[in-house]
Amino acid sequence: MGRKKSIVLVTVDCFRADHVGFLGYPLPVTPFLDTLAKQSVVFSDAIVAGVPTYFSFPAMLASRYPLSLGRENMGIAPNEPTIATALLDAGCATGAFLAGNPYLSPQFGYDQGFEQFQDSLDGALPGALPNVSHHTRRSRLNRGIEAFSRQTRLTAAAYRELYFWYCQRVSAKGNPSMEDLRRFPAADVMMDRACAWLSNLGDRRCFLWIHLMDPHNPYYPPEEALAAIGEPGMSARRALKWNALWSRDDLGPGRLRRCKEKILPLYDAGVYWVDKQISRLVETLKQLERWDDTVLAVTGDHGEEFMEHGARYHAPMSLPEQLLHVPLLLRSSDLSGMRTLESPFSLIHLAPTLLDAVEVAVPDSFRGKSWWKHILAGSFPNDIAIAELVTMEGNPLRSEDRMRPRVLAIRDGSYKLVIRFKEGREDLYDLKNDPGECSPLPDDVAIHERVRLLQSAHAHLKESRENRNAELALSARLCGIKHSMKMHAEKLRA
Ligand SMILES: [Zn+2]
Repeated sequence: MGRKKSIVLVTVDCFRADHVGFLGYPLPVTPFLDTLAKQSVVFSDAIVAGVPTYFSFPAMLASRYPLSLGRENMGIAPNEPTIATALLDAGCATGAFLAGNPYLSPQFGYDQGFEQFQDSLDGALPGALPNVSHHTRRSRLNRGIEAFSRQTRLTAAAYRELYFWYCQRVSAKGNPSMEDLRRFPAADVMMDRACAWLSNLGDRRCFLWIHLMDPHNPYYPPEEALAAIGEPGMSARRALKWNALWSRDDLGPGRLRRCKEKILPLYDAGVYWVDKQISRLVETLKQLERWDDTVLAVTGDHGEEFMEHGARYHAPMSLPEQLLHVPLLLRSSDLSGMRTLESPFSLIHLAPTLLDAVEVAVPDSFRGKSWWKHILAGSFPNDIAIAELVTMEGNPLRSEDRMRPRVLAIRDGSYKLVIRFKEGREDLYDLKNDPGECSPLPDDVAIHERVRLLQSAHAHLKESRENRNAELALSARLCGIKHSMKMHAEKLRA
């Protein structure tokens, strides 16, 4: 009888399901995970519960829907049970190594349950991913010229173009490397920290959470990763140019399409680097003789858009499959051979399933259910997955900006209903025949499916309202207010 099982959870920001080999991506960007998949459970239809990071992680760690404590609350509430607190209470060593996502910080409760918590934010004020806009360095003279240029559309466009190339020249001075330009620690740095922590644990059972940002914009992967996926010619200077062009909001679709051809390999190289570093992590677990006692889960917090529906990145405006559908594989020595689970699997079920796999009691507050017994039996229920967000054009840290209308997606294996509450509109898609979600079905087609998914939406909203944990909601609200007051005081002092 070995020691009790440990859990290693690797979450990857902006991780698209259709960009990994084991789910059919034709380019070899995930060689290690593709091999690992052959001895894992592959969830071919894993669906996040919200987009972006701050609407996804409450489901993954605390197994609840992101808006279930009210729009005013973000993150994990004070004293809210999570997979980490459950495992800490069960005697596990707990460590989190997160690559500098400002929404995964103690301010939002993510340190709860962790003995060791490194968010790589170095005291940076949360809420501000470094600005990727090129409109940051304007002098007074420059602002004057810009104001003058706005007299006609032609001069305005000419100004923007010239100013962009001027900024490019300034930014590229001194020949920066990818490392200079990257805004997050790369996966190799994160794995070094996580593996060092593992090596010092002795025999203790553990829960390790690693969050990697390599596929997150701006895309500056290591040169080694670019060479490995067959893109050795992409220098840091070129990557700087393509990232800056990709972030512009004044380019026509033709130029953006050309830009996308350069951006995709940069994104894929980030995915490749994640894959390579996960292989190092597994190697370390083997060396430490922990691999047979470890349940490993690898997944994403949401995907990324590359203009499929006109948008870039992953703003919380809509819920297309490019954002909802993420890779998920789960490897445990209890399982032999590859099993593919084709039913939609909401990540709200991930934490209870992992706890069940290591025989730790699931907290009562968790809304998801363990699927571990189904996995062991190899027979899976046909479930629906629900995702929700508040459309956000402003600053998610300002509570008034979070009071916007909800978008809700209800998804089964074939159909997806997207409800936009502001417009009072619901669109039903037949995903088998229209996987690109190009045209919603007319109202009089697939009426039974529409009714069934609408009923699920109704039940979800009713349950969210009736089961709201008032105490947690209030303590989260208090925590948020305290933080706003602190920020306000800091601003006044500055
Ligand atoms: Zn994210």
